[in-house]
Amino acid sequence: MSAKSAANSGQELGAGMASGRVSQWIRPQIHALSAYHVPDPGNLIKLDAMENPYTWPQPLVDEWLETLRHASLNRYPDPQAHVLKARLREVLDIPQGMDILLGNGSDELIQMIAMAVAGPGRTVLSPEPSFSMYRMIAAFTGFEYISVPLNAGDFSLDMPAMLDAIARHQPAVVFLSYPNNPSGNLWNADELCELIAAAPGLVVVDEAYNAFADDTFMPRLADFDNLLVLRTLSKMGLAGLRLGVLAGAKAWLDEFDKIRLPYNIGVLTQTSAEFALRHYDVLEAQAAQIRADREQLLARMRVLNGITAYPSRANFILFRVPAGRAPEIFAAIKADGVLIKSMHGASPLLNDCLRVTVGTPQENEAFLAALAKVI
Ligand code: PMP
Repeated sequence: MSAKSAANSGQELGAGMASGRVSQWIRPQIHALSAYHVPDPGNLIKLDAMENPYTWPQPLVDEWLETLRHASLNRYPDPQAHVLKARLREVLDIPQGMDILLGNGSDELIQMIAMAVAGPGRTVLSPEPSFSMYRMIAAFTGFEYISVPLNAGDFSLDMPAMLDAIARHQPAVVFLSYPNNPSGNLWNADELCELIAAAPGLVVVDEAYNAFADDTFMPRLADFDNLLVLRTLSKMGLAGLRLGVLAGAKAWLDEFDKIRLPYNIGVLTQTSAEFALRHYDVLEAQAAQIRADREQLLARMRVLNGITAYPSRANFILFRVPAGRAPEIFAAIKADGVLIKSMHGASPLLNDCLRVTVGTPQENEAFLAALAKVI
């Protein structure tokens, strides 16, 4: 055996022994999961992750870089991010008397909520299909995850099934994505209120796509003592920053704050987000452009034979292609230089479905041309 192959077989032996211990010690719920997969976009036009395609005008970039000169990297950040929170309160219209908690993306806030209420026999409930991290985080934190299928056809809430599941399982948390990822629709607000009133535990209304939706539960926080509203700056053009915001009653947020790791929002994020929020009008103008382009894209997709494009109040569009053709159509669009997301197989309700993020008008054209060609 050569030295190289001996070294290789040593590595394999080590890996084999490790895998025995891995399955002995890693919790079965974690071992059974797959890590959140993010494909490498290479040079493809990136319409797979609901990002804002726009950057800032150069003078604004220069001004931002200037503010970073004054950031002290040798010191820990303000653990409570006072200045940033004050700005967020104004910009996001956080109601008087409600508190906010910041996370490294809203993902981290979902995890903090779950960790705070996890316990033997407890459940998390969400409609299906919805944002995949609800299920993942429920698994990390040892919950049983209850999913209630949406109505096939329009992805509306199956209210009798939701109410029945809430009554039966008494969930510690219900996650409601408003608008819903991946279907893009905004559920009926009165139905949401009915669910919040029926839920014994917390209800998190996740408004990640609020900038494109024209509705919010933020003003209703005072109406329900079990309601929390979750926001993120990711879809507003700041996905790289990782900043999520949870709004709700202080009594709840004080408890989640105990779980928050110290200094979870770094100096560069605090400084950059404060700066960006001083120029919120730029981000809002970009969101308005994306909303207008979404309507155009939807109209253009709908005239294509064989495509069912669902209405969207978010910055993405879910669409269904002829049965059995999703993998081939996804691959053909990719071969033409555009990366979208295949939802086929993610849930029975998503068979033959693909999801495209609204990009710049040129990116949308490239996507439409690729779709029209393959269809
Ligand atoms: N909620 C929903 C509904 C989402 O779709 C996403 C991201 N795709 C998130 C939360 C997480 O966003 P972030 O961690 O970037 O704030």
